[in-house]
Amino acid sequence: MPGEWSCDHCDLSTVTATRQDLLKRVRSHLLRQGGSILVHESPDGGDHAACVSHLSAYDSDETGVLCLTKTPAAKLEAYHREVGEWPFDFHVLTPSMDASLPEGHVATAADFAGGPLSVTEIEPTALDSVARDINDSLTELADRNDHVAVCIDTLTELVTTFGPKPIFKLVHALNGRFRGVGAFAHWHYAPDTLMDSTNHVVRELFQLLHDTRGDEATLQTL
Ligand SMILES: [Zn+2]
Ligand SMILES: [Zn+2]
Repeated sequence: MPGEWSCDHCDLSTVTATRQDLLKRVRSHLLRQGGSILVHESPDGGDHAACVSHLSAYDSDETGVLCLTKTPAAKLEAYHREVGEWPFDFHVLTPSMDASLPEGHVATAADFAGGPLSVTEIEPTALDSVARDINDSLTELADRNDHVAVCIDTLTELVTTFGPKPIFKLVHALNGRFRGVGAFAHWHYAPDTLMDSTNHVVRELFQLLHDTRGDEATLQTL
């Protein structure tokens, strides 16, 4: 059957006439219930359009956005360019605070002080503190917003730094947390830089893959 899918985490199973309908239904299931998408990108990074399309999947005035990113300025700029306004809350966690923040025409001081934006430096060398920082931010955003959208663009670096095993555990735990609070998350990952066996296990942690490497991005169920 081209369009048959059952969720690993609840009793939903669905049959649709076409693959396209199925992908739509799976994505909207993840949006409603909370869940995570794996985004494959080339080693030199993806374009921001896929990222922002996931981050802005809900109404922005009811959404808290959480980004763990190595390029905070580029992320904020891309979001503002594509969406035209800020979400209710926008938390950025970054290991590279020295990466410059966006120019004044994108974000003003008022956007930060008491506004929607906050940028916090995290300690990337301690995995449990990374997990704790994500967790704390997630709790706060879920308390204050109807919806939470999450971007983690450091998965490749995390696997390279800590090795696959601890990162599989982290992704598994966080994906469970995202479902628990109904957050819609996506993780950026560059499979071309890592071993096939590692890529295979990473895929097993997800139900939907967004491959942005070709000329045309594709979605597939996993
Ligand atoms: Zn489900
Ligand atoms: Zn993203």
